[in-house]
Amino acid sequence: MSEGPLTVKRTTILSSVAILSMVLGGCSAAEPGPTEAETKAEQQRQQAEAQETERVQSVKAEVNRLADMYDFNAAIKLVQDDANEQLSSMVAGLEEEKAATVAWESPDRIPHLFFHSLVVDTRRAFDGDGQAQGYKDYMVTQDEFAAILEELHERDYVLVKPTDFARPDKNGNMKYRDIMLPPGKKPLVLSIDDVSYYEYMDGDGFADKLVLTKDGDVRNVYTDAEGKEHTGAYDVSTMVDDFVEEHPEFSYRGAKGLLAMTGYNGLFGYRTSDSQYPDNKNMKQDKETAARIAEAMKEDGWVFASHSWGHIATGTVSMERLKRDTKLWTKEVQPILGDTPHLIYPFGSDIARVGKYSGARYQLFKDAGFRYFYGVDGTTTAWMQQTDDYQRQMRINVDGLQFAKEQRGDRPVLSTFFDVDEVIDKAR
Ligand SMILES: [Zn+2]
Repeated sequence: MSEGPLTVKRTTILSSVAILSMVLGGCSAAEPGPTEAETKAEQQRQQAEAQETERVQSVKAEVNRLADMYDFNAAIKLVQDDANEQLSSMVAGLEEEKAATVAWESPDRIPHLFFHSLVVDTRRAFDGDGQAQGYKDYMVTQDEFAAILEELHERDYVLVKPTDFARPDKNGNMKYRDIMLPPGKKPLVLSIDDVSYYEYMDGDGFADKLVLTKDGDVRNVYTDAEGKEHTGAYDVSTMVDDFVEEHPEFSYRGAKGLLAMTGYNGLFGYRTSDSQYPDNKNMKQDKETAARIAEAMKEDGWVFASHSWGHIATGTVSMERLKRDTKLWTKEVQPILGDTPHLIYPFGSDIARVGKYSGARYQLFKDAGFRYFYGVDGTTTAWMQQTDDYQRQMRINVDGLQFAKEQRGDRPVLSTFFDVDEVIDKAR
């Protein structure tokens, strides 16, 4: 891809040299050479040809990327009316691939795995200080996550967005939708909780924050034990970005996952909360940066969810507290991330057991615009509930506690997705 423009330039230079020598040769030998107009026309013809070759290559690459991600309609649309035979002739093959997909057999049984920020430096995270056990219990390491990704991919899982399988119809009623995949492929939702790079994690071997590079890529900044800064993929979202880039067939139509965001420590490592950081001299800039990161991530297949502003136990705190918290979310987080219909309960603190939602808490969330709700259940591979009003799904925690439960043979669920013994980090 990157040699595209270079190749064109090289062709142009060569043809100019060839033409120049033709012109000079013509002069010295006094033979009738091409007229100036002919030379110019030839030059333009070659330039147009090179441009067309480059265009065809880039459209082909995009069509292949879309088709790899099972977005056959978008791929077909790109080429069906193209004057170039090479491109329009791709339609038949794309139609064939599309016809070979099947609707996922159980739209109401789609599993959901969630992670927290990844431990990059196990030595600093598991150093025996007050936080070490918490990190062991609730986090996974970068090596563990890399191994899990490989295995999910190997087992034919494909990342989907909640709106791929459930969406309000034209009457506003929530309905299941077909996920069209080649036979054998299985949909999976992934989410990441607390992508705030909380203050308490500082210096403990995690990424510091997300940044937007000059090229518009979202990356992590990570400071190693020696204090040296690195920019790259040091957490879940950036590692998934790289993995999907390499394996587009791991993503359904560009889907990546959900990010459960709180507000009290700001967003993505930027201390954007007015109420908590009244002295942040960089506030305006930090908010702008966070908004640009959010925008780039949304374009790249990520979906934002509220995880409450203050990481409160949504199911049990007083209504007053819940109202206050929801106001803070609307005031401090929503303007940066944009509206979201997704609510991921902190601590998995759901507002009802398996029964359907009703009552004041639900009404408050409904009024705040939430229609997709996510609890935690680490004992079953998939649980969903749908009413006209909302979609609800349970998530499986992937962390040290779940690894230990799995290894005890206590209601194992992770074995459906990967083998804990294979992925577990020896540094634990
Ligand atoms: Zn959380």
